[in-house]
Amino acid sequence: MHQPLAGKKCIVTGASRGIGRAVAERLGRDGGSIIVNYAQNEAEAEAVVATIRSAGGQAAAVQADVGRRRGIQRLFDAADAHFGGIDILVNNAGVALEKRMPLSEISDADFDRLFAVNVRGVFMALQQAAQRMADHGRIVNISSTVVPMALPGYSVYAATKAAVDSFTRILAKELDGRGITVNAVAPGPVETDLFNAGKTAAVKRQMADMCPLHRLGRPEDIARVVAFLAGEEGGWINGQVLLANGGMI
Ligand code: NAP
Repeated sequence: MHQPLAGKKCIVTGASRGIGRAVAERLGRDGGSIIVNYAQNEAEAEAVVATIRSAGGQAAAVQADVGRRRGIQRLFDAADAHFGGIDILVNNAGVALEKRMPLSEISDADFDRLFAVNVRGVFMALQQAAQRMADHGRIVNISSTVVPMALPGYSVYAATKAAVDSFTRILAKELDGRGITVNAVAPGPVETDLFNAGKTAAVKRQMADMCPLHRLGRPEDIARVVAFLAGEEGGWINGQVLLANGGMI
């Protein structure tokens, strides 16, 4: 079996469920050793670890709230302790409001919660990566197609992902000379717990029909794109935000 990531040491944040889970399993199948981060769902994270190990890979589950500096440090320390360093970081952990809400109604608490995880979490992980990642590493941030779509009801969430896009473009340049690429993948709607929250079957159908392929994304659709950017084949793509949405826009 071809393993393009053999020997690569990876951290995938928010890897117990959804897109992060699919990314961790895919990078593990590609030969990477994976730190499977989770916030609360230990059993789900351990199931991801078991799947990777049963396919012959190496993985460890690590609890850490990415919104806290201590949590981010724990993740990088775990990569050092388990695998001896870090080559690939996937900043996937993210939160959204439970339902679409106009900007005028969004509470300060929700604003702070989204920015703590989606922006400060990514910011702190990128800082650690800049200091501790091996040369020729790969960073992939998970953004969202809601940024260019400017969908009503998603203002604060979209603002957090717009910040991620800026980090991506600028850090790619700041890491000048290190051979590290920094990119973002911006999925359209992907059927996960985060997406399903507060949506009826009719709303989901309507969103699927906004895509010319007439279906919602699957976590594996995104994992494939992340694996490409994380591997040798994606090496000439740097500082980009890649929309992965079936052609929704
Ligand atoms: P999900 O199904 O809700 O899974 C979220 C994952 O993130 C879980 O593993 C969760 O861990 C973890 N997590 C949440 N808060 C965390 C924290 N503070 N620290 C560490 N881990 C944390 O979400 P998803 O749909 O897969 O979304 C993954 C990423 O894709 C997010 O950045 C999201 O914004 C982005 N995205 C999603 C869609 C979509 O339609 N689904 C579209 C565009 C972009 P626990 O299991 O322990 O709670």
